Amino acid sequence: MKKHVAVVGGGVSGLASGLKLLEAGFDVTILARELPPHTTSDVAAAFWYPDGAGPVEQVRRWAAVSHAEFIRLTAVPQSGVSLKPAVELALEPFAPPDWLALMAAWEPVSYAPNLPGYRTIVPAINTPTYMPYLLEQFTAHGGQLIQRDVTNLAELTAQFGLVVNCAGVWAGELVGDTAVSPIRGQVIRASKPAGLPDEIVHLDAEIYSTYIVPRRNDVILGGSKQRGDWRLEPDPALAEDIWRRCLALQPALQDAEILEHRVGLRPGRPEVRLEVEEVGKGTAVIHNYGHGSIGHTLAWGCAAEVVQLALDCS
Ligand SMILES: Cc1cc2nc3c(=O)[nH]c(=O)nc-3n(C[C@H](O)[C@H](O)[C@H](O)COP(=O)(O)OP(=O)(O)OC[C@H]3O[C@@H](n4cnc5c(N)ncnc54)[C@H](O)[C@@H]3O)c2cc1C
Repeated sequence: MKKHVAVVGGGVSGLASGLKLLEAGFDVTILARELPPHTTSDVAAAFWYPDGAGPVEQVRRWAAVSHAEFIRLTAVPQSGVSLKPAVELALEPFAPPDWLALMAAWEPVSYAPNLPGYRTIVPAINTPTYMPYLLEQFTAHGGQLIQRDVTNLAELTAQFGLVVNCAGVWAGELVGDTAVSPIRGQVIRASKPAGLPDEIVHLDAEIYSTYIVPRRNDVILGGSKQRGDWRLEPDPALAEDIWRRCLALQPALQDAEILEHRVGLRPGRPEVRLEVEEVGKGTAVIHNYGHGSIGHTLAWGCAAEVVQLALDCS
């Protein structure tokens, strides 16, 4: 008989885990308070970037598994995944980040106005296409969706036996994990002006890094990383600062029109929590949360490990 698994969370971690569990032969029900397009995962920029979460060794492994999955998805136009040039910049010359060694090709660049950095090619995820695609794939593969709040995981383990906790930043309060806290990210969604190069630009400098992420129909301008800040409403002063920083980096943006301001709460944690917690005889919770700034980058690698842990529990 197929084992029935409940997944809490309908962001990228919950949907990727749910899909991989279905493919491995489990019955899966996702329970989520918010579904795409209303999750943190929908707000993300979002590009593959294997740095900024721990533990470093596992992060590299999960990111590599995801990279392979993204390459596969570039052949599926409905997925919204493509490959794009990406420029990693700093104010001062810097050694190539060690993750560049994972890439097939990269080169040093000098980006106007005279910023040093490196150019490579990374998977870019058009979230307005990708998140609905994941949701559609989940139900098309027989997954069940229930939109509701979960206040108590024990109630679910009693019903399902195995529960996967992908509750993002809210996992902290759900399981009493005080190591989880929000890293607030504010972005501007703007129209794509003629003359804007189709490449991702990421400048790691000043208080917050600045990034320009052209997508299929718009461009995302960021950003901020405000630790411990739960505010979901956009901050107008911060929006002005983001606009100023992006314009300084790419003057073609002066012809862009601001379409929307958005805020997402990244699930900050010193290390991703991906492990099994036995909660009773034959019942367990697999925790999969705390992916910080790179949850899209890690989602498929973590989902593969969730499946392995679920098989070990069965
Ligand atoms: C501005 C910004 C830019 C980013 N850029 C990138 C990037 O370029 N690359 C990258 O890899 N990552 C990026 N990220 C990070 C990435 O978006 C997150 O790491 C990722 O979205 C986390 O996904 P998640 O599924 O774990 O959480 P979420 O997307 O937050 O999903 C959590 C789910 O759990 C549900 N939930 C929570 N609590 C409960 C409960 N009690 N009951 C029921 N349901 C519950 C929620 O409703 C939701 O469905 C960015 C994030 C932001 C904000």
